Amino acid sequence: MKSPDTRIPARLQARLDIVKGLAIFRFALDRDFHFLSGQYATLWLTHHDRTIPRPYSIASSPSETRVLELYISKVEEGELTPSLWSREVLRNLKSGSPETSLSITGPRGRFLLERDDPRDLVFVGSGTGVAPFISMTRALNEEYLASPNNFRPRKIFIIHGARSARSLGYHRELERLAGESLREPGRRLSIVYLPTVSRAQFEPEWKGLKGRAESLFEDPPTEGSPLELEVTVRRMFQYLLRPETHAVYVCGHAGTVDNVAEALRHRGFKLNRDIKREKYYA
Ligand SMILES: Cc1cc2nc3c(=O)[nH]c(=O)nc-3n(C[C@H](O)[C@H](O)[C@H](O)COP(=O)(O)OP(=O)(O)OC[C@H]3O[C@@H](n4cnc5c(N)ncnc54)[C@H](O)[C@@H]3O)c2cc1C
Repeated sequence: MKSPDTRIPARLQARLDIVKGLAIFRFALDRDFHFLSGQYATLWLTHHDRTIPRPYSIASSPSETRVLELYISKVEEGELTPSLWSREVLRNLKSGSPETSLSITGPRGRFLLERDDPRDLVFVGSGTGVAPFISMTRALNEEYLASPNNFRPRKIFIIHGARSARSLGYHRELERLAGESLREPGRRLSIVYLPTVSRAQFEPEWKGLKGRAESLFEDPPTEGSPLELEVTVRRMFQYLLRPETHAVYVCGHAGTVDNVAEALRHRGFKLNRDIKREKYYA
């Protein structure tokens, strides 16, 4: 068995840009990397004799053992992430220059799907915090497709909060899965995708949910126009979400994680039992 501290050399295979400073990275690994959906890997970047490690939730499915997918946003004043967009670093990584190298360690983390929990799932991701839910959803969908009739019926609400509609990484994949669930009402793995955009005022063409992810768990106004999408969804969650029937997983910015936990606490949800959390930064 490999120790989680063993460094596995990694090569940058692809960077899929979502918007400026936000991308899906795929790293080819020299050895098999086994993990569970929800765990994170530590990415180590060495450049000019300086090595910086940072943890990243794994977005790929555990069935992919030689390729690791991470969803990363650039922090302008950060130590590691600006390098992932630096021309020099990318050129060196491409040419295999000894000045620059990547490796990963792990997996670590206990933000795991409780396999024996029969409750329906609510995944709430803010920004890149959707990454562990991509891995979980991919793994569950693979399990469903491998044996549709034996799959224990499950509904997943995936709420993804992003600044803008353009920065909703993975939206095509999630829309496709949600579309399949709608087209096949008997599908045992049913996915409802609810993307919400916090700076919608700059994108008048966006007709979907507006506001932060956590706002969907606030109580709806008693007098609200039923035509407002956010009010309709808030009402739906107010009536539907119960700790007996739903387990909530929330990941990303600490503010979102705390606000979701606080809003649901008033509805009887208890931390760790009914709400699982993974915080990226304060
Ligand atoms: C368990 C875990 C999983 C994580 N998974 C992911 C992931 O999947 N994708 C991802 O992009 N990040 C993820 N992070 C955050 C990541 O580890 C780094 O903190 C982030 O990439 C910034 O690294 P940096 O070296 O560029 O900046 P640093 O030098 O580490 O940070 C500089 C400052 O920026 C703040 N900061 C950190 N992240 C952000 C951010 N996203 N937006 C604004 N400010 C920030 C820090 O608090 C710090 O004050 C995760 C963190 C944890 C603990």
